[in-house]
Amino acid sequence: MNTACKKTVYVDNAATTAMSDAAVKAMLPYLQGVYGNPSSLHAVGQAAKEALEDARSRIAARLNAANPNEIYFTSGGSEADNQAIRSAAANGARFGKKHIVSTAFEHHAVLHTLKKLEREGYEVTYLDVHENGIVMPEQVAAAIRPDTALATIMFANNEIGTIQPIAEIGAICREKKVIFHTDAVQAVGHVPVDVRAMNIDMLSLSAHKFHGAKGAGALYVRKGVPLSAFIEGGAQERGRRAGTENLAAIVSMAAALDEACDGMEARAKKIAVLRDKIIDGLTKIPHSKLNGDRTKRLPGNVNICFEGIEGESLLLLLDDKGICASSGSACTSGSLDPSHVLLSLGLPHEVAHGSLRITLSEDNTKADADYIVKCVPEVVEYLRNMSPVWEALEKGEKPHLL
Ligand SMILES: *Cc1c(COP(=O)(O)O)cnc(C)c1O
Repeated sequence: MNTACKKTVYVDNAATTAMSDAAVKAMLPYLQGVYGNPSSLHAVGQAAKEALEDARSRIAARLNAANPNEIYFTSGGSEADNQAIRSAAANGARFGKKHIVSTAFEHHAVLHTLKKLEREGYEVTYLDVHENGIVMPEQVAAAIRPDTALATIMFANNEIGTIQPIAEIGAICREKKVIFHTDAVQAVGHVPVDVRAMNIDMLSLSAHKFHGAKGAGALYVRKGVPLSAFIEGGAQERGRRAGTENLAAIVSMAAALDEACDGMEARAKKIAVLRDKIIDGLTKIPHSKLNGDRTKRLPGNVNICFEGIEGESLLLLLDDKGICASSGSACTSGSLDPSHVLLSLGLPHEVAHGSLRITLSEDNTKADADYIVKCVPEVVEYLRNMSPVWEALEKGEKPHLL
């Protein structure tokens, strides 16, 4: 292995992104100059309050929310998901509705909350995902029952990048009077999101997935949809989320979202060119497979399985070459279980183990893409040459699955 050409190519933007210059610049004054507590009545506090409400208005506008009061700041995507689902479930239970519709490939912030609710007496229907990683609106319509309180279906998948038909699903839920929540953490700032046109009742987003600071997120809740407090304490966020706001990070979130939404189309096009170059290059490797629909996917997402190797070994060797990628979501790496997302597509365990996720940002260059297309085939070949599984496949002792 040649590790001489050491450099860093960061392609794990679905795990987190670097803060943009605009986002850093926007937050700095709120660390020292405007350090007040937005709940304080004096001038320093009121300056902070003004910045908080300005951020709320801008984020509401970018989502096309009707009113800034529909935005509740949280610590991030996980908290927003937990609060939305918990609140909608509790509200449904008040009317004897304890059924929830979701999918098999949600983020763990959603899945683990649902698992807990199941232990508390709720019933959850996990819709199967098609081989292309898309949930069809008809599946949602068929799963909704008279006792369904909530449908929670992610906007774009964090591992395979597939974009769901959210507007169609939203229309069905609105018609059937079921609260519709979407985890849009991977979508906001990357693809167009319009809560009104898409009939979304609740939506989760997170700043650090679009070049804002870590530790800030938001939950959109349409006016008229009840929201219960998730953290008890002070009266912040109209009594729904106690705790002094992470103002500097929230200001960075508004700045990052403005930047991400301005020129979104041009940026997405540029990133998709690199994505397609990498997909074309890596799917030339024999016995490999692109996971998720080829076109209905995020502009920066590549997710490919290679038969006969372990994703973890692939990642470590790529890391040696300076390529920072992932084998699935950051939350599942470190466990040896194959990704629940890849299994939900119907991939066999053996194949799901050999996955590589590359997620690009506008900071990536054509040279990065070329480097990836050069290095990955070398590493895959190196690993296959040492793999007893691959040897058995090549000798015909086991059938190839890809
Ligand atoms: C990252 C991510 C989350 C969690 O967001 P945090 O802000 O890190 O808590 C939730 N859902 C999806 C789809 C994500 O990609």
